[in-house]
Amino acid sequence: MGKVLIIGAGGVATVAAVKVAQNADVFSDIMIASRTKSKCDAIAKAIGKPNIKTAHVDADKVDELVKLISDFKPDLVMNLALPYQDLTIMDACLKTGVSYLDTANYEPRDEAHFEYSWQWAYKKRFEDAGLTAILGCGFDPGVSGVYTAYAAKHYFDEIQYLDIVDCNAGNHHKAFATNFNPEINIREITQKGRYYENGKWVQTGALEVHKPLTYPNIGPRESYLMYHEELESLTKHYPTIKRARFWMTFGQEYLTHLRVIQDIGMARIDPIDYEGHKIVPLQFLKAVLPNPQDLGANYEGETSIGCRIRGLKDGKEHTYYVYNNCSHQAAYKETGMQGVSYTTGVPACIGARMFMLGLWKRPGVWNVEEFDPDPFMEELNKQGLPWHEVFDGDLEL
Ligand code: NDP
Repeated sequence: MGKVLIIGAGGVATVAAVKVAQNADVFSDIMIASRTKSKCDAIAKAIGKPNIKTAHVDADKVDELVKLISDFKPDLVMNLALPYQDLTIMDACLKTGVSYLDTANYEPRDEAHFEYSWQWAYKKRFEDAGLTAILGCGFDPGVSGVYTAYAAKHYFDEIQYLDIVDCNAGNHHKAFATNFNPEINIREITQKGRYYENGKWVQTGALEVHKPLTYPNIGPRESYLMYHEELESLTKHYPTIKRARFWMTFGQEYLTHLRVIQDIGMARIDPIDYEGHKIVPLQFLKAVLPNPQDLGANYEGETSIGCRIRGLKDGKEHTYYVYNNCSHQAAYKETGMQGVSYTTGVPACIGARMFMLGLWKRPGVWNVEEFDPDPFMEELNKQGLPWHEVFDGDLEL
């Protein structure tokens, strides 16, 4: 049994809190702390269990975090705020001697730049302190890495081609909305595309490369090649990979809105002067866009995220496709949140469970694929994200 501190009170944190509360066999006490305490209180009230406390914290401030962590004394901090807070929370964990888990790699505010170097640089300090840091434990990154580790452990001697495919075939009935934090989401999607081939990174224009891919129970959907952070860790940890790519589906309506947002300068992340105030256009846009947390009630359809893998086993080429489909309505009924928050919050809870049980507990800073995938895969089936396998099918890629 252990104590967990959840930082953040958005869609992902809400789902994780609901699931952590359901896993009462391993989590004894829960604290939800975020910038807006009333949101933490609302989550605690909705769950309605006596072992959940709430607090205010500004996670950009190491001193505030240290005070909170020292008072509550958790075994693990789950960082479900924003990627900007990764390093301050890791610093506070080191100062207080507590382990750490997150779902997205650190990004500096002034540059949409995605790489693990900042967080990997903490490895020795976590090792020396005897603390565990689990990085990127959502769905992608997260389950995508666990799926790859599972394939490598059970089905391949050599993984050679990896395509992570992420389809959201849901409809929230809004003209334009993002499924998770709009600022983080638009920064990610408007960056240049990038994939790994024969030891090098190949750059493409933003969403320039696309093709229809067929998703189970959904059908064909136009899928766009993007850079995604787990490509960096997976190509490092599986050096036999010759090519690794990430694909995500977008509808035409979404892309048209995105183009207009960019064309009129609303995707800018540099501060501009407006009537004597400094404002960041993308942050202002976030304030007027629908809140991803409010999309759930009218969200229909499902997500389908998986790994399509080609490689060698006993000298013969094989393909393997492992995926989960998640219904937005089922996610909403269980947690009050839509499927994208659900597919991120559930793996975060499972990662925390793995840590508490000592199955994923090792001093240092680790990506999920560096741990044993088997107990995590077993929990995915039990905790709402069952997976399916297709052997030697046509990967279309
Ligand atoms: P939201 O914007 O809904 O929630 C973020 C929360 O963090 C909000 O409650 C916000 O507070 C809080 N927060 C922001 N800044 C601070 C701060 N300085 N101090 C304390 N709290 C702060 O985002 P999501 O729930 O959609 O996403 C959460 C994380 O999950 C993000 O890092 C995102 O990148 C990641 N993610 C990962 C995925 C994966 O598959 N790996 C997929 C989807 C998301 P307030 O309520 O006051 O705004």
